[in-house]
Amino acid sequence: MARKKAKVINEIKVSFPSLSENERFSRLVVSGFASQLDPQVDEISDIKTAVSEAVTNSIVHAYKNEIGKIELVARIYDDNEIYIKIKDHGCGIPDVKKAMEPLFTTSPEEERAGLGFAVMESFMDKLRVISKEGKGTSVILTKKLRTKLDK
Ligand code: ATP
Ligand code: MG
Repeated sequence: MARKKAKVINEIKVSFPSLSENERFSRLVVSGFASQLDPQVDEISDIKTAVSEAVTNSIVHAYKNEIGKIELVARIYDDNEIYIKIKDHGCGIPDVKKAMEPLFTTSPEEERAGLGFAVMESFMDKLRVISKEGKGTSVILTKKLRTKLDK
């Protein structure tokens, strides 16, 4: 039997400049939005960490020597899933597959570990990266939260 398609029951969109102060803001926005799902402490902490890695990447890599716009969309589906998209219009990633490999970084001189994508992948259920050189990057993160019944 075909599985019922989950419906969006709530959605927010915010955009902000790529100032480092907004990394904290983005984490707080998403955790505030997710709170209606009554998440467990570990779930909220995983989501905040993943969002923080994605937004930090837009701040430090996409808009390396400039300030640009970051757009964040978050949705809640009726099957208890949270969807988060972080989009920038920065430099883009020439080889996404390579960039997602653990320990790959283009900024070793800034002491980056190359672990951001690995962290997003392990803390969320799904990670999707869509990028075009010179155009920008979208990172989509999803996680299905435990329902009240399985807590
Ligand atoms: P860490 O996250 O451990 O500080 P890092 O940012 O280099 O190090 P990842 O977050 O895994 O590691 O990203 C890997 C590489 O992908 C980056 O070094 C950068 O080259 C590229 N990258 C990631 N996000 C973006 C983005 N939004 N725009 C442009 N390049 C990006
Ligand atoms: Mg990173």
